[in-house]
Amino acid sequence: MTRSTAPRWRRPPMLRGGGFANWARTESCVPSQWMSPATEDDVVALVQRARVDGRRVRCVGAGHSFNALAAPTDIAVSLDNLRGIVAYDDTTVTVLAGTRLRDLSAALAARGLALPILGSIADQSIAGAIATGTHGSSLTHPNLSGLVRAIGLVDGAGVVRDLGEDDDLLDAARVHLGALGILTRVRLRVVPAFTLRERIEWLPVGEVAAALPEISTSAEYTKVWWMPHTPKALVFRYERVPAPRTLLAVHADRFIDEKILHRSLLPAIFAAQRRQSGWVPMFNRTAGRTLKKASRIGPSPLIFSTPMPARHTETEASVPLASGGAAFDAAVQVVDDADVHVNFITELRFVKGDTGWLSPAYGGDVVQLGAYTAVLGDRDRYFGEFWRRMRELGARPHWGKELDHAADELRTLYPRFDDFTAARAQLDPDRMFANPFLDRVLGN
Ligand SMILES: Cc1cc2nc3c(=O)[nH]c(=O)nc-3n(C[C@H](O)[C@H](O)[C@H](O)COP(=O)(O)OP(=O)(O)OC[C@H]3O[C@@H](n4cnc5c(N)ncnc54)[C@H](O)[C@@H]3O)c2cc1C
Repeated sequence: MTRSTAPRWRRPPMLRGGGFANWARTESCVPSQWMSPATEDDVVALVQRARVDGRRVRCVGAGHSFNALAAPTDIAVSLDNLRGIVAYDDTTVTVLAGTRLRDLSAALAARGLALPILGSIADQSIAGAIATGTHGSSLTHPNLSGLVRAIGLVDGAGVVRDLGEDDDLLDAARVHLGALGILTRVRLRVVPAFTLRERIEWLPVGEVAAALPEISTSAEYTKVWWMPHTPKALVFRYERVPAPRTLLAVHADRFIDEKILHRSLLPAIFAAQRRQSGWVPMFNRTAGRTLKKASRIGPSPLIFSTPMPARHTETEASVPLASGGAAFDAAVQVVDDADVHVNFITELRFVKGDTGWLSPAYGGDVVQLGAYTAVLGDRDRYFGEFWRRMRELGARPHWGKELDHAADELRTLYPRFDDFTAARAQLDPDRMFANPFLDRVLGN
C-alpha cells in the first residue's frame, strides 16, 4: 500500500495549524491555503481566480476517507459554510454540499423524513460521502450516490452545471472522486421517517458463506460481522417497527459504547496490542462474547449508525453478489495465511446495483467486504494478502478506503472508466481538481 506519510495516531492536524490529516491519521499534508466559501457565487469566484493563477484546488469534506483522495496539495476548500437544506418535498431534499449526514438526518427528522439508508457513521459531508460510493447494507437500497436525483457543481472553468436525471453526466458525477468540480448542491431521494428494530444472531463462521443467499433477503437491511480469531459471526437484521414510547435505552446504550468503550477503553487496549500483538486473539475472543446485545429499537439514523469507533484503518472490496460467500471465506482464510493479528471486525454488507459509472456497485448487486485493523504493524501484510485474494475474484476497491490500485487496473474493473475520464476532460480540462492520488487512480 502506498501512502504519503508514515502512520501517526496522535495530535491530528486536521484543519488546525493549516494542516490536513484524514480521520485515521494515515495521510497528512500542508496545503498552501484554506478557503471556506459561503455561497455558490463564492465558489465560482474562487475557481475562476485559481484558474487565472494556474492553481490547483481540492475540496475536503469531513476528511473521513482512509486514503489520500481528499488530500489538498495547493488550495484546500472546505464547504463547512455551505450547509443546510435548500428545499424539500415528500420524496426529495436539496441540500448544500457541505452538510454533514448527521445534520441532514436531524433536519429531515424534524420534517418527518429520512434517508432510506445510511452507512455506519454519519460524520461525513454529503458531497464527500457520495464521492466514494459510501454505502450501508441492503439489497433494496443502493449506496448514497444511488439516491442522488440532481447535482449542482462548479466546473474547472468556474461555470455552474446543473446535472439532472436527463443528463448523462449525472451518472458520472454520482461517485465523483472530487475530480469533476466542486459540488455545491445535491438533490436526494427521501422517504417518510421510520423506526427500525435490530436483531442479532450468532452463526458459526464456516456456515456464513452458505447462508448468505438467505441472509441477504431475510430483512430489508442485513449485514454480517466477524471478529477475526473467533469461531462465530454475528448476523444483523433490521426490520421496520412502530416507534417506541421512549428512546432512553438506545441512547444510554450509545453513550456507553461511544464515550466509554470506543473513546477510552478500546484506544488503551489497541495501544497495548500494538506493543504486544500476540494478545489480540485472546482479546477478540473475550470481546466477541460481549458483542451480543439486546435488540435495539429507534429512529433509523440512530440504528444505522454505530458509535464513532476507536481509530483504526480499513480496506474494502466489492464483488458480485454471487461471489460474496467465496469472498467471505477467503477473507477468513487470509487471517491465517498472512499470519497476522487483527483486532477489528471483518464486515460483510450487501449493496443494490446502480448506474454510477465509478460506483463499486455499477451494473449489479454486490457484496462489499471490509477488512479493518488497528494493528499497524500487521496492516500491510493483512491488506496485501486480502487484496491478493480479492483480486482473484475480480473485486473493485472502495474509493474511500486503503487501495493500492492504479488507473490501468481500475479501467478493467469499471466498464465506464473511460467515459468517466472523458467527462473529467470535459469538466476539468486543466486538471485543476487533481492531486497525486487522483493522478494514480485516474491517470493524468
Ligand atoms: C469511522 C468511519 C466509518 C466509515 N463507515 C463507512 C460506511 O459505513 N460505509 C462506507 O461506504 N464508507 C464508510 N466510511 C468511508 C467514508 O464514508 C468515505 O470515505 C467518505 O467518502 C468520506 O466522506 P467525507 O465527507 O469525509 O469526504 P472526504 O474524505 O473529505 O473526501 C472524499 C472525496 O470527496 C471530495 N469532496 C468532498 N467534498 C466535495 C465537494 N463539495 N465537491 C467536490 N468534491 C468534494 C474530496 O475531494 C474527496 O475526493 C467510513 C469512514 C470512517 C472514518
